[in-house]
Amino acid sequence: MLCGESWLLKGIIMLAKAKAIQDQLSAWRRDFHMQPELGFQETRTAAKVAGIMEGFGCRVRRGVGRTGVVADLGNGSPCIAVRADMDALPLQELTGAAYASQVPGVMHACGHDAHMACALGAALLLTREQFPGSVRFLFQPSEEVGDSEGISGAPRMIADGALEGVDAVIALHVEAVTPCGAIRTEVGPASGGVDSWFAEVIGRGGHGAYPHEALDPFFLTAQVINALNAIVSRRIYPFHPAVVSIGSLHGGHTENVIPDRVKMTGTLRYTEKAVQEQLHAEIRRAFEVARTLGGDYEIKFELGTPPMVNHPEISELVAAVGRDLLRAENVLPWRKELGAEDFGCFMDLVPGTMFALGTHSTGPVFGLHNPNYDLDEDCLAIGAAVFAETALRFLRQNM
Ligand SMILES: [Zn+2]
Ligand SMILES: [Zn+2]
Repeated sequence: MLCGESWLLKGIIMLAKAKAIQDQLSAWRRDFHMQPELGFQETRTAAKVAGIMEGFGCRVRRGVGRTGVVADLGNGSPCIAVRADMDALPLQELTGAAYASQVPGVMHACGHDAHMACALGAALLLTREQFPGSVRFLFQPSEEVGDSEGISGAPRMIADGALEGVDAVIALHVEAVTPCGAIRTEVGPASGGVDSWFAEVIGRGGHGAYPHEALDPFFLTAQVINALNAIVSRRIYPFHPAVVSIGSLHGGHTENVIPDRVKMTGTLRYTEKAVQEQLHAEIRRAFEVARTLGGDYEIKFELGTPPMVNHPEISELVAAVGRDLLRAENVLPWRKELGAEDFGCFMDLVPGTMFALGTHSTGPVFGLHNPNYDLDEDCLAIGAAVFAETALRFLRQNM
């Protein structure tokens, strides 16, 4: 076992080694950035990462979870996985950067280009190290959207065996509001679990002049909306995060006809399984108001991504690496939100953690998914070094 001072020294050396490959990291990131591909269409991207990883001597599997790539460095157990998502967004880039997207209407506005560069960088750094066991790199398709069956890249890769033999899994996500040079870590829930719901409120149509002869589904829907909006404030324990939002509302065709039905869709967010179950029950109860008033309803739920729940030991390992590489004041607490991230699917099965990588240096802050989002490429060396050093420490401590 190394003493604290030796870990600190190793961390500083790893960061220096990562900074020495900065040009390569930027070149990879810019290449991905200029040629972005949407979810489950990452064929060029996947071929590129697979080729690079083969060049590093990895055993590479292509077509995992449709367009994903799995690459193993080293042999056997213990095994820690490093995950990087590969998909871009349907967005027209406005940064004006020399390396801006060359694909009209498609942009790496969520920083997945940087995630891949950091993972490739970690692989390159690890080819120069001795370690027990293996590191598995998961280049994941389609984090942002599901396929025709509503299933995104992480569960698709899991179904294809990407986690077999994996003891722990780590990932990072760039963060626009956090300065380059800092990371954020968290123990426990760090993102929201998400389910969608699709409903219809059913009344009885009729002439707009004779509402007493119809059963107005708009009137029913108005009561349902009230009940839906009271769920979080009146029914959920205040220390349990939860969201219920309506995303669409459609009914009727013209001004003087009361329609039969109103269609409504929405989302729900949670971090605890019990809250997820309660939200499902309460949303149904809210729609029961339509029955109480003489109408009816139909609803179906589509189960989505589970919450990311960061494992205490893996999270503390990443935080310790961060403190050694970047100094304690640059390891910040995670900014909790109920946005969804399908990395939670991996962490449902294997202990893991996601850390946030600060990317901002100067100028106004443009958030992720903004057509002006860009990042300070100095963050790439930090991401690569934290990945590599965390993997080394995990493998050496668990051999
Ligand atoms: Zn995104
Ligand atoms: Zn993302």
